[in-house]
Order: sequence, then structure tokens, then C-alpha cells
Amino acid sequence: MRSFLVCSFLLATFLVTVKSDAVDRSLSDEEVLAGSPAALATENRVADQRDLTRLSDASQLRRFIAAGLLVKITSATGYFIDETLGEADTTNIALYSYARPWVKTFLDDLAADPLRPAGLKLKVTSLVRTVAYQEQLRKKYPAATSATEPGRRSSHLTGSTVDISTKEMSEEGKAWLRKKLAALERRDLMQATEEKSTSLCFHVMVFPEYPIKR
Ligand SMILES: [Zn+2]
Repeated sequence: MRSFLVCSFLLATFLVTVKSDAVDRSLSDEEVLAGSPAALATENRVADQRDLTRLSDASQLRRFIAAGLLVKITSATGYFIDETLGEADTTNIALYSYARPWVKTFLDDLAADPLRPAGLKLKVTSLVRTVAYQEQLRKKYPAATSATEPGRRSSHLTGSTVDISTKEMSEEGKAWLRKKLAALERRDLMQATEEKSTSLCFHVMVFPEYPIKR
């Protein structure tokens, strides 16, 4: 009996330790949103676990759109599609303003947030991409994420990711969005990164369960 109690105590201590490691409450919003190889690994792990297809080319993208697996994101109150979106494949430019339905839910939630600073319109600079598109992008921007390297592929290939530009966003707007994204990432509903080097944006992979658990 005594050894059972000791074991139970050790197990409980272990579980508490593991839990506090998994959710580090001491991190600031900026730290939660810092880009890292771990953030990219998480995006890839979630894509694998949720069985999210990485789209290969424009014809597969067309099939996904026709099947209703991706929805069109159109400019609405609170956000708009940037004219550069799809620029690496101008022939098929209209295909790139699509995303998974849970990305649209997330954007609509941001637009409807009563705490959104007055007059702030979010500029959406990227949604779904294909392997072919990402490779074109890498020719132009060599620092862009891989299209093919296992475990390090861009999550835009799944259609679950949106980039929101911070280039012309007010400090008030950035502070509001940082707080919002960090809180949702702590709840394991997304993996968000504030990119501050080559592209100035919030890169946000929304997890499929977002609409049910938000
Ligand atoms: Zn991105």
C-alpha cells in the first residue's frame, strides 16, 4: 500500500511537471508569437495529424475548390484581399484567394471583435498556395519556407494559413492582434508567428477545430 501511495505521488508530480512544461504561462505575447523552427515543426505536425493535404498544383487546387473543401475569401467589413495576393502565378491568380472554411471563420471573428480598433482593416496578403506556387515564390524570395522538405514545409500548402500584413498597421492594431493571437495559440487553436524580417506580417495557421472550440 505504501509503495502504491509513493508511486501515485511520483506520477502526480510527473504529470504536473509535464503539464506546466507544455503550457508556459510565463511567456509574453511577443515570445509566444516569435518565429522558430519549433513553430514550423508544430504547423507540420498539426497538418500531418489532421490529415491536411498539401496541394501540389493549380489543377489539384481547382478540384479542392470545386469539391467545396476551400472557400473564397472576399473583401468584407474588417478585412480585404491585397492586390499582390497570387502574384507568383498571374495566370491562375483567382485560385489563390481561397482557404479552408475555418480560416474564413477566424477572419470573420476578427472583423466582428468589439475590441478591434476603430477603422482598422486587415490586409490579407496570402492564403492557400500550392507546391508549384511556393517554388515560384522561393525563386523570388529565397528565404521563403520550403515546399517539399519533410517537417519544414509551408503550412500555406494546406489552405489553413493566412498572412495579415503589419506593414501599414497602426501600433494599436498590432497590439490588439498580438494579444488575440497569443491567447488563441495558448489555447492550442492556432500556430501564429509575427514575421519581422523579410515579410512584415502575422502568419497564422488556424487549426481545423477552431470553429468548434473557440
Ligand atoms: Zn505565411
